Amino acid sequence: MRKIPITAEEVSVPERAATEAHPDGVFLADEVFFQAVEHSPVAISITDLKANILYVNRAFTQVTGYTEQEVLGKNESILSNHTTPRIAYQALWGRLAQQKSWSGMLLNRRKDERLYLAELTVAPLLDESGKTVHYLGMHRDGSDMHQLEQRVINQRQMMESILNAVPSAVVLLDESKSIVSSNPGFMRMASALMPDVPPDALVEMLAFRLGNAFQQLVEDGRSFSDKEFSIDTGAGQPLWYSCFGTRIDIRGEEADGFFEQPVKHCILLMVTDITDMRRRQEEVRLNALKALMAEEDLVQGMREAMNGAIHQLQGPVNLMEMAVNMLDRRNDSRDSAVLSALQDGLKAGRRALDNLERSIPQDIPESRKPVNVNELLREVLSLSTKRLLSNGITVNWNPSLQLPALIGREQRLRSMFLHLVENAVDAMSGRDVSNRELSIETSSEGERIDITITDTGGGIPVDLQVRVFEPFFTTKTNGQVVRGMGLAMVQDVVTDHSGMVRIDSSYTDGCRILLQLPLNPLR
Ligand code: FAD
Repeated sequence: MRKIPITAEEVSVPERAATEAHPDGVFLADEVFFQAVEHSPVAISITDLKANILYVNRAFTQVTGYTEQEVLGKNESILSNHTTPRIAYQALWGRLAQQKSWSGMLLNRRKDERLYLAELTVAPLLDESGKTVHYLGMHRDGSDMHQLEQRVINQRQMMESILNAVPSAVVLLDESKSIVSSNPGFMRMASALMPDVPPDALVEMLAFRLGNAFQQLVEDGRSFSDKEFSIDTGAGQPLWYSCFGTRIDIRGEEADGFFEQPVKHCILLMVTDITDMRRRQEEVRLNALKALMAEEDLVQGMREAMNGAIHQLQGPVNLMEMAVNMLDRRNDSRDSAVLSALQDGLKAGRRALDNLERSIPQDIPESRKPVNVNELLREVLSLSTKRLLSNGITVNWNPSLQLPALIGREQRLRSMFLHLVENAVDAMSGRDVSNRELSIETSSEGERIDITITDTGGGIPVDLQVRVFEPFFTTKTNGQVVRGMGLAMVQDVVTDHSGMVRIDSSYTDGCRILLQLPLNPLR
């Protein structure tokens, strides 16, 4: 039977028991235990009470690089790198003094100087009287495990720092769409948009706004990116967001999932506030629109001026024509010189009219498409903001929340609304107007859209309320260039859209224009 030496002096390198069989051919129980220890994959050592090594198994040599001859009789401290905090040893020895085991990590150095983390358990070995006679040490190289654990911790910390730093809202949902984790950006978004409800309400709202994209992500794992949506909180401009969504498959961490690897489908959403970018884009668009409208206005002005000139020239030409016809009928030779001069004048006049007519810039026909009247009116208000503000005009904008699109010529309609708003601003910019309010309202009635534009300016006398829609008629006499085609143009656009426009004669605090436009003028 193999015996563990009691003191360092008793140490001798034992011959390997594995080669020895009992004379009867049967291993004794001690021998079996010895073999089990000897071949254990864990580095096992047995020491005296001062930690001098009396026995080491094969795995000890593999882990430390020391052969048993090299360590027998030496203190376990031979393994120390001397950088393990003192407190660890005090804990180890303190537990052993109480006849208790101790487990912990020590920084060891192999024979070849390589460092490794020893995952060590030491325990006292007692004799029959309960006295500690030996210490048992069991350790393995825990460096790889530590490295992996540390890597996981580092990666988690890195991910957390990134998620905390990104300005986007990030949320991870489980299969039942409950929040697994979220970053501060998500919590900020939730408290800003839905201050009095739990953050799950924001998830519901996002799912609603993302519609099909979210549904397909949940059902088929189809990722999406750059999905934009807006949220109108009712306060100021709407907020714009862009969302990225993907499915993350997470493997089970529990022991029972080791062989079967159950997979949980989680949903990752990343929402970025793009309101500023959208506003800048909108600004650029409005500026481009302004430039376009200014150019169109100029061309329209030219058109109107030339039509006005034709209108004015037509009178004398008609008179000359009448005179020529009269002289022609009289057939008096004394008139021949006058007649010839008049005929020349008439010819020149007609040529001039003809030239003028041909020089009028042509209106390029615009095709019809679905138009959002609310959006057009909002745009027109934005285009007129400067004038509205500088004239101290308060705007009451009451769009219908559910206004269907109408089929129309967008640019013509925009020009028309801008004209009506500009007319209203002009009407209220007089010094005598103290209350300056512009109200715009939209509503839908069956197959048509109603638009009401009301100002608190001087108004239009009842007897002129029909004539103002005639070409060349104006009520503006403030010494500026008067074109007088504005409401005629409005009438023209409304007619082109098979609609109706009139001034509400019952309204006496200014001017109220009532417009009715069918949803589809071609129907
Ligand atoms: P030491 O002079 O040995 O002492 C450090 C502190 O330990 C002292 O302050 C003292 O409080 C305490 N101490 C030391 N010896 C005793 C004692 N006999 N009784 C009570 N307290 C004492 N150390 C490693 O670094 N790596 C190992 O893998 C390792 N394995 C061990 C296995 C066993 C079974 C045992 C019993 C100890 C093991 N040790 C190991 C501890 C080792 O014996 C040393 O205590 C340690 O390495 C510190 O050595 P040192 O020379 O720096 O300091």
